[in-house]
Amino acid sequence: KITNHLPTAELQAIDAAHHMHPFTNDGELGQKGARVITSAKGVFLKDSEGEEILDGMAGLWCVNIGYGNDSIAEVAARQMRELPYYNTFFQTTHVPAIALAQKLAQLAPGDLNHVFYANGGSDANDTNIRMVRTYWAEKGQPERDVIISRWNAYHGSTIGGTSLGGMKGMHGQGSLPIPGIEFIEQPNWYAEGGDMTPEEFGLARAQELEAKINEVGADKVAAFIGEPIQGAGGVIVAPDGYWAEIQRICQKYDILLIVDEVITGFGRTGNWFGSQTLDLKPDIMTVAKGLSSGYVPIGASLVSDKVAEVLAGTEFNHGYTYSGHPVACAVALENLRIMEEEGIIEHVRDVAAPYLAEKWHELADHPMVGETKIVGLMASLALTPDKDARAPFASDAGTVGLIVRERSFANNLIMRHVGDRMVISPPLVITKDEIDLLIARARKALDEGYEIVKEKGLMVAG
Ligand code: PLP
Repeated sequence: KITNHLPTAELQAIDAAHHMHPFTNDGELGQKGARVITSAKGVFLKDSEGEEILDGMAGLWCVNIGYGNDSIAEVAARQMRELPYYNTFFQTTHVPAIALAQKLAQLAPGDLNHVFYANGGSDANDTNIRMVRTYWAEKGQPERDVIISRWNAYHGSTIGGTSLGGMKGMHGQGSLPIPGIEFIEQPNWYAEGGDMTPEEFGLARAQELEAKINEVGADKVAAFIGEPIQGAGGVIVAPDGYWAEIQRICQKYDILLIVDEVITGFGRTGNWFGSQTLDLKPDIMTVAKGLSSGYVPIGASLVSDKVAEVLAGTEFNHGYTYSGHPVACAVALENLRIMEEEGIIEHVRDVAAPYLAEKWHELADHPMVGETKIVGLMASLALTPDKDARAPFASDAGTVGLIVRERSFANNLIMRHVGDRMVISPPLVITKDEIDLLIARARKALDEGYEIVKEKGLMVAG
């Protein structure tokens, strides 16, 4: 029997023999062995060697209330006993699905009063593709089926999610994107802004949406999709003015705005939703991750009155076996109750985010750190061999980032790299002391990484 008590090497060998890891070169991983996580509490993971790791990523940007919450476990067990499963297809519903839909409608900004459940963010975005195309078809404009997205966006890894996302490496595997998805450039001033001010650059990048609409034909465009802050793309924060211009353009051409809040939802930016932080008025919002704090899989599309009213006129032939799964809905509701009753958003806004921002920006004094960015509790820093020029490294993108990430992992901090940007997104319950520890380990990883980078002769601008 396989338990936590088996020696690490044995667990790693079985893992390597049978487990295909997502976004991983399994051959390489098999050589060194995956780190085996055995338990977790608060912001800390424990591995099979007894090491305590500070999870600076909240899992995959999702464990917002932290690990090891008993009341969530109790609610899940109770719901499993009472009604472990029933579907919401055809003509049935159940209390967890009803109660969570009402709660989400209350919390969501504007008139996002309707909830279509999914299992996570990717398939919620698949729902969105079909939903916006069905919306326009129902309005007598079936030719309006193009969705405009951005390069370097991440919207999931299903066929639909990958297609909407702007990760070229993902498009290359599986003959994607599907037809009818168009892309504009991302608002990454640090890497691409040249001599423009951030504001000039942000405006120019937003205006690419208008140019793309005119190129495709306004009567062919269904929707624009974007993350309020690009997460998996490296925590790219658009310059001020960018989103206002995007919204102006969407309104001018009557194009639906889909805001993907899979990461920015549920407190990450210091409000319930990133749309509130950035004053966005979406027609559809994608949520997942923090909705259940990752305790069980669940996602959803939150849909405005305008879209839901049109959809209500037809049968939308779409849904998942686990759409509105009762256990997932009950867990999500309990998660939202905890967030409200424990004042977790207030903690982010008033305590953790300002403190982390102060400490994170101090890392800018490091010889290899260019810009530091942070909104709420999602932060990034750009590694560079030449701060003044905001230059990339001559080595392949990600070579230096990987070195720093590995030093971070070795120092028991989970900090990710996206190319040569380092990113963090810790659990929202992180305390000031834990932030101090996170920063100390991040600095140590940067220092050790810097030594390796110099030794390998990689401090060279490309
Ligand atoms: N959308 C965004 C913005 C994400 O960050 C992610 C996951 O990281 C997804 C969608 C996909 O969600 P999932 O992995 O739950 O399918």
